[in-house]
Amino acid sequence: MAKIFCIANQKGGVGKTTTTVNLAAGLAKVGQRVLMIDLDPQGNATMGSGIDKRQLELTVYDVLLESASVAEARVKSDKLVEAEASYDVLGANRELAGAEVEMVALDRREKRLRTALAAVGAEYDFVLIDCPPSLSLLTLNGLCAAHGVIVPMQCEYFALEGLTDLVNTIKQVHANLNKNLQIIGLLRVMFDPRITLQQQVSEQLKSHFGDKVFDTVIPRNVRLAEAPSYGLPGVVFDPAARGSQAFIAFAEELVAKMPPASAFASSAVAPPVTSPPRVVPDLPIPDDVLAAAPSASVVDTDQNSA
Ligand code: ADP
Ligand code: MG
Repeated sequence: MAKIFCIANQKGGVGKTTTTVNLAAGLAKVGQRVLMIDLDPQGNATMGSGIDKRQLELTVYDVLLESASVAEARVKSDKLVEAEASYDVLGANRELAGAEVEMVALDRREKRLRTALAAVGAEYDFVLIDCPPSLSLLTLNGLCAAHGVIVPMQCEYFALEGLTDLVNTIKQVHANLNKNLQIIGLLRVMFDPRITLQQQVSEQLKSHFGDKVFDTVIPRNVRLAEAPSYGLPGVVFDPAARGSQAFIAFAEELVAKMPPASAFASSAVAPPVTSPPRVVPDLPIPDDVLAAAPSASVVDTDQNSA
């Protein structure tokens, strides 16, 4: 049974899509069966996986509105098959923005993706969901379908501020809609070790969140930024680049950290009556996550007062 993870952070431009497509390709390279779901109407994860969003006949929109199944709507990129880093893609395009409005009036509106995924869960080791930069009904569908959330973060002061809202949303989803939802971990991305503040925030994240911060750090690397224009994840576009190697290491770290699939088994179908064993310990979520923010001495005053 697949482990289903959302890549979420309600901030835009923090590296969600880059993480999703490179982790998907990285996992595929190390032999995992992966489905990547694009829940962002911008369709960047779709394009970055070598699928032309304008040519798609069926997308995640059709799945959410229950006019198609995941099996009918998923596609594969030939380029990724050739590179032996292939994963299935449930794509998105602009049409998805309409789903938000259309779903409001429907029943089980936040559980539609979860229901749809139940039919294909056995075919994959991992399902990765690229979320839009908002805490919308689309994101909610992702969180309701998932076992866990991977949060890409830049090591900046305001990154921690954004974490509060995300953590509150995750807590609410956990309490009301999806008892299985856990925070799998925080991934430090676009990291530049030459910037002292980034180093300090990184250290503080580690000391506050401990094991919930992935060991792998994704460096800022221009090859990762160039890859989408070729319709390829960085790990396929330039496997030797530092950023690509980091994503392969991250895929390996994630696989190594995963408990047996059975620990996640029932989640995509229906919430179990009792909570499943907590195989990945909960993120210690302080009531005020800002308590984890760097101390005043670390933050430069311009940023602090901005
Ligand atoms: P999000 O999905 O959160 O909006 P993206 O993954 O689209 O963020 O990343 C935002 C921008 O930053 C993109 O132009 C992307 O190519 C670039 N980017 C992401 N990660 C890196 C990285 N590690 N190094 C350099 N550029 C990056
Ligand atoms: Mg994105």
